[in-house]
Amino acid sequence: MDLRKVRNIGISAHIDSGKTTLSERILFYAGRIHKIEDVRGGGDGATMDFMELEKERGITITSAATSLKWEGHSINLIDTPGHVDFTVEVERSLRVLDGAVLVLCSVGGVQSQSMTVDRQMKRYNVPRLAFINKMDRTGANPESVTKQVRDKLGADAVMMQLPIGREDQFSGVIDLITMKAYYFDGSNGEKIRTEAIPADQVEEAAEARTHMLEALSMYSDELMELLLSEGEVTEKLIHKIVRDATINQGFTPVYLGSAYKNKGVQLLMDAVTRYLPSPLDRKFVGIDPKDPTARIPLESDPAKPFVGMAFKIMDDEFGQLTFTRVYQGTVKKGEMYFNQRTGKKDRFSRIVKMHSDKREDVEMGEAGDIVAIMGLDCASGDTYAAEPNYATLESMFVAEPVIKMS
Ligand code: GDP
Repeated sequence: MDLRKVRNIGISAHIDSGKTTLSERILFYAGRIHKIEDVRGGGDGATMDFMELEKERGITITSAATSLKWEGHSINLIDTPGHVDFTVEVERSLRVLDGAVLVLCSVGGVQSQSMTVDRQMKRYNVPRLAFINKMDRTGANPESVTKQVRDKLGADAVMMQLPIGREDQFSGVIDLITMKAYYFDGSNGEKIRTEAIPADQVEEAAEARTHMLEALSMYSDELMELLLSEGEVTEKLIHKIVRDATINQGFTPVYLGSAYKNKGVQLLMDAVTRYLPSPLDRKFVGIDPKDPTARIPLESDPAKPFVGMAFKIMDDEFGQLTFTRVYQGTVKKGEMYFNQRTGKKDRFSRIVKMHSDKREDVEMGEAGDIVAIMGLDCASGDTYAAEPNYATLESMFVAEPVIKMS
């Protein structure tokens, strides 16, 4: 597994902004729900449309994590509970993410719930992209929503696209890096047509590009100098700066679309693979079970001793399904691992990867990956490792000593 091509991402959203619809579209385009041939190349292999898909709603995103492929990348889409509750469950799901997509409604913008989840994400340093959804709605105002992301969430949010057409006329986007227009065709928006920027938007696009480059120049001396000397700014350089600024410095690139109308989802996913971090871009530390003040650095290296955290437990007809993020080493089917909390040795007799509603048996899971262990008896939040007392990911609850009254 090429770790550089792994993305563990969550979709966080205020209720009703379209998180479910977006997740379904992502799975659809990735061919996981129903295989469609050559989606991006313009083949006509679509075998099912979203109306039929809607009927199957409910089976698609019920999993705590679902794995899909996108343009040579392995993506684990992790369910991020959107509710306000400051629960340990929400925190746990956030900490296994390497990056996130913040979905916002083009009319409703940033609402109180988005602010709560965003604060939690900041605590775990989760880099994110914003997706302004429902661009087809009356009153859609991506400029205002972007400003809200800046003002209310304190993120350096910058639009990477301009809309072509507004509200019910929304038909595509202008990409401010390639300076091309993208239209979404086909019954499910699965074909992307590229054209020159419409004549009446050329000037607006040039201004927006300048604004975007100026914002990015804050993160790169090289770009700053190129802008001052009017040198050539290559697409490659912009991608590099956006990626670095997003991963390390809180830059938030903003994308536009309408999940329901099948617009903009593929370009968003391209940005996910391009700009959100791989496990190698992240730093993880465990707590030393023998000394809770000591930290154990963990490495996304498959050759090191295994350390993984059970972040979500679900029950189904086959028993307990334990969703586990592998932080270090390789977890192998049939091997025994130590529960760091109980000290007990448990056998991992069956390992699966979840693909929407299907499960695929696998022999192992490598550092950076997310797998589910079947039939394990443990609690959510438990850390497993190849050795006893090696490291734990979640601080253990230490009971206060009981003061005896004499
Ligand atoms: P969630 O609560 O964030 O998961 O939101 P849903 O995906 O369930 O969507 C909430 C409602 O918004 C549903 O009625 C969707 O059909 C609708 N919706 C989702 N995406 C769009 C969109 O792009 N445009 C419009 N107009 N409605 C949308």
